[in-house]
Amino acid sequence: MTKSLLIDLSKCTGCRSCTVACKSWNKLEPRIENRNQDEIRKAVEKAKGTDKFSDNEFTYIHEKDIRNFYKRQCMHCDDPQCVKNCPTHAIVKYDNGAVVVDKEKCEGVGLCAQVCPFGVPVMGEDKKPVKCTLCYDRITQNPVLEPACVKACPSKALKFGDIDEMKQYASKYKYVYGGGVNDSYNSSVIYASNIPFEEIDFKVAEVHNIANVLDAIKHPVGVLSILGGAALVGLKIYGDRKKKVQEGEK
Ligand code: SF4
Ligand code: SF4
Ligand code: SF4
Repeated sequence: MTKSLLIDLSKCTGCRSCTVACKSWNKLEPRIENRNQDEIRKAVEKAKGTDKFSDNEFTYIHEKDIRNFYKRQCMHCDDPQCVKNCPTHAIVKYDNGAVVVDKEKCEGVGLCAQVCPFGVPVMGEDKKPVKCTLCYDRITQNPVLEPACVKACPSKALKFGDIDEMKQYASKYKYVYGGGVNDSYNSSVIYASNIPFEEIDFKVAEVHNIANVLDAIKHPVGVLSILGGAALVGLKIYGDRKKKVQEGEK
């Protein structure tokens, strides 16, 4: 059964316990294990201060102003552009809903980061994309562990469960985005709100991010970096295939 992470914006207080828990579970910087109280306080402050995705931020609170904010993370789309456009099939959409990068297969081309309609993946220091995994390593355990951010949320603004159950929960709200509810975007992450999304600067799927890639192709640097990367991957795949054929002929 496909799972879903629901974000109930009417309950979110912006406390950022979720972002800290995400860092802790995924061992991202600033790490907060094995530190004294003062170091933990400083680390939490640093963790709170971010407002963009990075290889240390799989999720963050986008704050339009002191009253209007929301948790951002990968939407775990049903038909993910990142999966469709990866030349090495290094990103997989699993039946449980999670969209996960296999770093072993990734060749660092970076198309996923260019085509994501929500601007989610970022290329890490190792030139591999990083993003929220829907806590794949927790939700595939038996018994299932809910995502770290969900577990940490003191206001119960985050919920995790079967997608039908989450859709049912969301149906009580005036504004819903995700899960295909009310013909909105199809994804495993669902936002439910009582105030219009425009009021919180909510980022809906933007097709123009794909156009940006095409635009980049018009520029020599963009062409070289994107096509150069793709060409290298193509050559590697061709080389690997050729080797296999030769081995088969022996
Ligand atoms: S932990 Fe819950 S209440 Fe706090 S910011 Fe995250 S989603 Fe909002
Ligand atoms: S939000 Fe972006 S990175 Fe996440 S699944 Fe969708 S296309 Fe991929
Ligand atoms: S689901 Fe896991 S990886 Fe994604 S934001 Fe929550 S804690 Fe981080």
